[in-house]
Amino acid sequence: MSVIYLDNQATTPLAPEALEAMLPWLKNNFGNPHSSHVMGRQAAAAVEVARDQVAALLPPGGRVIFTGSATEAINLAMGAARNRQGRDQIAIIDTEHAAVRDTALWYGTQGFDTKLLPVDPQGLVKMEDLEACFGPKTALVGAMLVNNEIGVIQPVEQITERAHRAGALMLCDAVQGFGRIDIPQQADLIALSGHKIYGPKGIGALWVRNGIDIPPLIHGGGQEQGIRSGTLSPALSAGLGAAATICAKRREEDMHHVANLAETAHGLFGAWTVNGSLNHRYPGNLNIRRDGLDVGRLMSDVRGVAFSAGSACASGSGRPSHVLAALGLEPAQIKSSIRLGFGRYNTIEEVERAAHLINEAAGEQLS
Ligand code: PLP
Repeated sequence: MSVIYLDNQATTPLAPEALEAMLPWLKNNFGNPHSSHVMGRQAAAAVEVARDQVAALLPPGGRVIFTGSATEAINLAMGAARNRQGRDQIAIIDTEHAAVRDTALWYGTQGFDTKLLPVDPQGLVKMEDLEACFGPKTALVGAMLVNNEIGVIQPVEQITERAHRAGALMLCDAVQGFGRIDIPQQADLIALSGHKIYGPKGIGALWVRNGIDIPPLIHGGGQEQGIRSGTLSPALSAGLGAAATICAKRREEDMHHVANLAETAHGLFGAWTVNGSLNHRYPGNLNIRRDGLDVGRLMSDVRGVAFSAGSACASGSGRPSHVLAALGLEPAQIKSSIRLGFGRYNTIEEVERAAHLINEAAGEQLS
């Protein structure tokens, strides 16, 4: 049975261009990029090309550190809080991905004071509360660009301005926005992931503004600029680099395409309620609920469509969604929510067919 894939926030298919870029480093040159012979130097050159391709989408005045995932990049970035003398507070938006939220909460067990910044019922951070939250003790502020569950775009530039006014570092989890929407140019630390931009899984990157000191998280040979030990994968790096380049080239086309898909979906899911802001959102994400629905049952009834249960979107953890709870949704509403993620390779026909299957099964269940 062929499955209609509408879960592009969980992961994206590999772009053919990314696969092409990876193949030579899997098939022909298997050299270690840290070796000094010719095969190693060629592999190292491929890694550097990829680094430049990723950096081209990021602000000037910083460096790209390759990691195994965005989760690793975020953990690495948050270590910067340790080097802020006299500052022991970390403030993040309550609806951050678990990679940021759980790491910040863990810092809360390590002598840091972790603050969760509240959001309004639309999922947008309450700007009026920020001034009171940031102060001389704030070491690091974390704000995501696009929320993975509800697609809401946070005003990261404005949060950054306030964080900097308080002397704090700004970390932006740009995983769901990188290659799609503008990157906040004033952030100090920016995390991204290969598999959300039609690149390979198993690679992410952290962009670090020049002058910011990051303590290593993984110790060893010091391969990645002394900060991240472990042999780099030229194939994964090349795949990420190519995926970033294609995203930049196709940015308008991709955006236009997912907006069209979303518009079609909005029309077809008229009986459902959208979770999160309708105005400040990335259109490729549609998180909707239909009161009274048992989404677990819906998912087993609609096997021909790959989509997420809104309540289980907390990064695949199976935990109830802290994001939907932060919007003020009741547990029953959270349990009746689904997330559809549209991407570059979806068609209008797929969205129509998926909507038909989901609506039919939901209708049967509720009748
Ligand atoms: N941040 C956001 C917003 C995400 O959506 C994800 C993945 O779901 C991550 C971080 C973690 O990315 P990775 O899978 O590369 O660790």
